[in-house]
Amino acid sequence: MIPLINLKRQFQTVKQDMLKEFERVLDSGQYILGPKVKELEKKTAEKLGVRDAVAVANGTDALVLTLKAFGIGKGDEVITTPFTFFATAEAVSRVGATPVFADVDRGTYNLDPAKIEENITPATKAIIPVHIFGQPADMDEINAIAKKHGLIVIEDACQAFGAEYKGRPAGSIGDAACFSFFPTKNLGTLGDGGMVTMSDPEAARRVRTLRTHGTSKKYFHDKIGFNSRLDELHAAALLILLEKIDGWNEQRRKVAGKYREALKEASHLTLPTEKEDRSHIYHLFCIGAENREEIMQALDTRQIHSGIYYPCCLHLQDVYSSLQYKKGDFPVAESLSDTLFAIPMDPFLTSDEQDQIISVLLAKGGGET
Ligand SMILES: *Cc1c(COP(=O)(O)O)cnc(C)c1O
Repeated sequence: MIPLINLKRQFQTVKQDMLKEFERVLDSGQYILGPKVKELEKKTAEKLGVRDAVAVANGTDALVLTLKAFGIGKGDEVITTPFTFFATAEAVSRVGATPVFADVDRGTYNLDPAKIEENITPATKAIIPVHIFGQPADMDEINAIAKKHGLIVIEDACQAFGAEYKGRPAGSIGDAACFSFFPTKNLGTLGDGGMVTMSDPEAARRVRTLRTHGTSKKYFHDKIGFNSRLDELHAAALLILLEKIDGWNEQRRKVAGKYREALKEASHLTLPTEKEDRSHIYHLFCIGAENREEIMQALDTRQIHSGIYYPCCLHLQDVYSSLQYKKGDFPVAESLSDTLFAIPMDPFLTSDEQDQIISVLLAKGGGET
């Protein structure tokens, strides 16, 4: 069996280091927001070249707390992509604001800057580009639009730790950025975790206050906040993974390179566009095919897992029916959700496993059985 992501194999490579660190945490007597979290925040900020990194409980909270820290709420609109994990828009709704969708680029699957401005109204406060599947969005264009209209840019970098855009790390390019350390993310812990990065010290202070019940001084509360803290065990695990992430991302890129080379002549498959001025870290490797169901069935028969990201665009989700979007509003995003599927991708996928996957993909051209 070849899973989509072989987490067990990935964690085996760091198991001994982690067990040692976990023992230290166990003996330390500090289990939440302690020295390991502080060290993780410091090292993350240094690595990304930002002033502040604030650890929180998960990526969704990272988005919610960031929106709150910038004062975004009821009556405000936030422009984002309909082709992302639900949490991006959910966070906007959770603070009482309204998500406004704009279509994506067919090749990179990222928010299309040319579709943003037509959606700006007097109520628009922010844009959330998502670095989907690990490739940074068109940040220069998006930042320029934001500057022109006085909007905040929040990078949803949950799938893109270590990716770069014109030499700058994802997570350092907008006004703020949000990361998820959910186990399947390219930088993932053994549970939930998240991080907000930014260089605005006031906004960072507000995120810190919000994550611990709206308090800046213990037992004195200036606002209604959240309980959104990171555990020391996760910080200890993430500190080990932080040392590995560049190498692992490089291995992901190698795996992607082999797929691209082997599949480039296959006219029944569409490969993701990799832009030259940025580095894609391939959180997922998603390709398109008109006969997606048939290919996924053939992979399944050979015990090779595949998955659909994302089978339903956000503007067509039941929960957003009140926003009155309809099928056909975002033709590119909709066609991607009808044709894309992810094939196995992780830093430790073997060449032999890749050969098996590739041979099934190549055999399924032109709809023959
Ligand atoms: C995973 C993910 C989130 C949410 O992160 P959690 O840690 O699961 O809360 C948000 N946005 C995107 C694009 C994601 O992939």
